[in-house]
Amino acid sequence: MLESQLILDTVRNFSKNKIEPLSEKIDREDWYPRNLVREMGSIGILNPLYQGLDLYTAMLILEEIAKVSGSVALIQDAQTELVTEPIRKFSKVDVNALSSGEKIGSFGLSEPCCGSDTSSMKTKAVKKNEWIITGEKMWITQGLYADLYLVAAKVDNKINAFLVNRDPCISVSKIEVMGNRGTGTAHVKFEECKGEHIGGWEVIKYALNIGRVAISAISIGLAEGAIEEALEWGNSRIVFGKKVLEHQGNLWKVSDSISKILMLKSFLKYVCENMNDYLISSLKLQSSRISQEIVDQSLQIMGGMGYAKGSKIERIYRDIRLTRIGEGSDEVQLHIISKNINKIF
Ligand SMILES: Cc1cc2nc3c(=O)[nH]c(=O)nc-3n(C[C@H](O)[C@H](O)[C@H](O)COP(=O)(O)OP(=O)(O)OC[C@H]3O[C@@H](n4cnc5c(N)ncnc54)[C@H](O)[C@@H]3O)c2cc1C
Repeated sequence: MLESQLILDTVRNFSKNKIEPLSEKIDREDWYPRNLVREMGSIGILNPLYQGLDLYTAMLILEEIAKVSGSVALIQDAQTELVTEPIRKFSKVDVNALSSGEKIGSFGLSEPCCGSDTSSMKTKAVKKNEWIITGEKMWITQGLYADLYLVAAKVDNKINAFLVNRDPCISVSKIEVMGNRGTGTAHVKFEECKGEHIGGWEVIKYALNIGRVAISAISIGLAEGAIEEALEWGNSRIVFGKKVLEHQGNLWKVSDSISKILMLKSFLKYVCENMNDYLISSLKLQSSRISQEIVDQSLQIMGGMGYAKGSKIERIYRDIRLTRIGEGSDEVQLHIISKNINKIF
């Protein structure tokens, strides 16, 4: 507990002093903060589970980062939950270069044909002398810059997990996105690339499970960042002779948001301690939906200033939208919950 508190204090300071000053540039210029990733590695936050921390503490780290930058939080999630941690858990491959930020990792599951319907994926792996991977991956976070790709590919119609090193057989092209900019989102093509087999669907499933909890933590952090903005503005802006937040209707909006954040945080802790499919999906569904509402309410408190290009809340408003799509959309989470109804009721 003491160690967790110490690392969270470190992350809070790091977020304020190192990440926040770059947040606007990352978004405005669609700029990938390569050195920052190394710095994150140097303070040990690119694979907290590997450092012996529990999942809940790892998620609190992500929440702290998301308070100041959705983009950097997504980078951390892609590098950590989607790549480094599954490799560490399911293979003997050395993850030190990923944990230190020396190497960049990407997770390739979604394809141009299919994101939700992963069973229809077209990427294939064929065993010759070595495993040879051919296919295309879409929307890949850090895909533009990755040194190593954790790729889902079919072997005899079953999804397996492979590691593919950066090589001329790979071509990448940039995808411009609305929010979470500066994260190197890419369309990645593999043309007969050598791959290392590290396991079956369980590797991908594990990445998705902790990744979905991570997206939940990110959504909570983004909503908290929005509330902080609303509090600051609402306590200084005067309308009809008093501060915006002295009008009870507005103060209650903030109170309502805070009560929802407290509920989500306790659900996050519960799910981290009781990981199963329907709990993870329920957490992701509700945290991303509710956090989006909180961001919207916070922006409303700021009036036109909240709508201004370049304001922090305008960035959060765009960033939060991804949490209802990435790592399984709302509809996919509802589908998973619906398959488990008889276990719940
Ligand atoms: C910025 C960004 C970063 C991303 N990073 C990564 C990454 O690093 N790695 C990676 O592999 N992927 C990544 N993704 C992809 C993301 O996971 C997919 O976009 C997501 O899973 C949805 O897939 P899709 O876009 O193909 O939508 P589709 O699967 O085509 O779905 C379209 C719509 O139909 C809905 N739908 C799907 N199935 C059903 C159903 N059975 N019933 C009702 N409605 C349904 C969906 O919810 C959605 O609303 C990223 C996406 C974005 C935008």
